[in-house]
Parts: sequence; C-alpha cells; structure tokens
Amino acid sequence: MSAPTEHVEGVPLVHAEGVRKHYGRLEVLKGIDLTVRRGSVCCLLGPSGSGKSTFLRCINHLEKVDGGRLTVDGELVGYRQHGGKLHELREREVAERRRDIGMVFQRFNLFPHMTALDNVIEAPVRVAGVARAQAREEAVQLLERVGLADRAGHYPSELSGGQQQRVAIARALAMKPKLMLFDEPTSALDPELVGDVLDVMRQLADEGMTMVVVTHEIGFAREVGDTAVFMDEGVIVEAGDPRQLLVNPEQERTRAFLSKVL
Ligand code: ADP
Ligand code: MG
Repeated sequence: MSAPTEHVEGVPLVHAEGVRKHYGRLEVLKGIDLTVRRGSVCCLLGPSGSGKSTFLRCINHLEKVDGGRLTVDGELVGYRQHGGKLHELREREVAERRRDIGMVFQRFNLFPHMTALDNVIEAPVRVAGVARAQAREEAVQLLERVGLADRAGHYPSELSGGQQQRVAIARALAMKPKLMLFDEPTSALDPELVGDVLDVMRQLADEGMTMVVVTHEIGFAREVGDTAVFMDEGVIVEAGDPRQLLVNPEQERTRAFLSKVL
C-alpha cells in the first residue's frame, strides 16, 4: 500500500524535480523543477518548441519521463511503489490515474457525431460507470456552468470554436478531476471568442481548481495565475509571481519573449 497522501495539504499536487525528456537525440526537457500547490494556477509561457506541451503530456502520462522525479498528488508518474520497489504502471493503472486529470487542448477534440451533452456524459458513463441518468443530470449542470445550457442538443459543427472549447472543458470536468491541464486553449479561437473561454477558466480557478495552463494570454496569466513560469529550450528560465515576472522580468530572454507577445 502506498502512503495515503490525498488529504495531506503539504504535498503539492504536481512536483517536478530535474525532469528530463528526449526524443532520440533531441533533448526537449533539460531538468524541469516545478511545484504546483493545491488550488493554485500555474501559467506556462514560452516560445514554440520550448517543451511546454511535452511537460504537460508528461504530467498526464502521455509521455514517459526519462530522468528526474515527477509526482502528481504524491504519486510518482508512471510507477507504483510496492514492497519498497518501483514497478512500472500497467496500462490499466495509467488509465486509472489519468482519470483524475482533465486536459483541454488547442483543438477541441469533441466527438463530432455526438451532441454537446453526449460528449460530456461519454466518459462518466463509459469509463467511470456512472448511471446514465445521473451523468446526464451532472452534464446539464456542467453545461450550465460553462454558459451553454441552451446548446446541450447541438452538435460540435453547430457550435462556435469558443462554444466547442467550453464543451471540452465541461467534458473534462465531468470526470471530477483534481487537476486540469490546458494546452493553449484559446490559441485556435477567433479573438472575439477568447474572452468567454478565459472567463470559464477564471471561474474554475476561483472555485479552487488546481490548474496548469499553457497560454500566451498575458492578461489572464497576470490576473488569474498564482505562478508564471517562462520556459525556453527545455529549461525554466524564470518563475515567480506573474505580477512581477510578466511586468518586470529579471531575465533578458523573458523580456524579449514578452515584448513579442504583448
Ligand atoms: P511547445 O509546446 O513549447 O511548443 P513541444 O513540447 O511541443 O513544445 O515540443 C518541444 C520540442 O520537442 C520541439 O522541438 C518538438 O518538435 C519536439 N517534439 C515534440 N513531440 C515530439 C515527438 N513526439 N517526437 C519528436 N519530437 C517531438
Ligand atoms: Mg505546445
């Protein structure tokens, strides 16, 4: 049995120490150290190719870490402890752990042949075994939360990009995750649709959800983020209070990047 860490306030939800990842000879993460406290919002920024998505994918068990230590809720990603030894997780165990993590991508990835409501109830019913009636009730509430109660019966093709992204958020929340990962959730949206999605994310943060958000929305990071992290070429160049880092960074590389996105 592993130690019950779930209710230990002191254990950060995400903890990375010297996390490394390479694809062949390409080193993508070169020793990432990062702590995400429960109930906090961590915003990751950095140029394209700096390793932000790879890091999110490691947290979500979509990539194997090659070096260092990465824990989610006190448990080592990819491994389980048994009799003082580490064992690689089996596929089923990985799937179980991934249920606790919600992920929202740049592209909304909704099932095109299902209504908004059916997209939201799919995982609870099929993966978690929730009774359909109950899942439906919860899905209606979730769609209400993201401002789409009146779109429950619409198919993705009948929704705007912003509405689809809000359905994707509701769908991730339907599994009652303890951590939400967002990978440039507004980058593919027309500018006038970005605000509604950010508002939903802001509300989620206010409700205490722990979030790691890759974004170029500096305003969001400044207002909602508890931490801002600037990554470049597989390293964290600088991390800290967004109101400090995004306004008056210490590092020249951060400054140069911000001057491009602002
Ligand atoms: P970011 O999200 O910051 O733009 P990524 O994590 O997507 O960066 O990518 C970091 C680097 O890793 C890039 O050079 C990218 O081309 C490379 N990369 C990402 N995924 C793979 C993969 N599956 N195989 C090989 N190289 C990859
Ligand atoms: Mg990316």
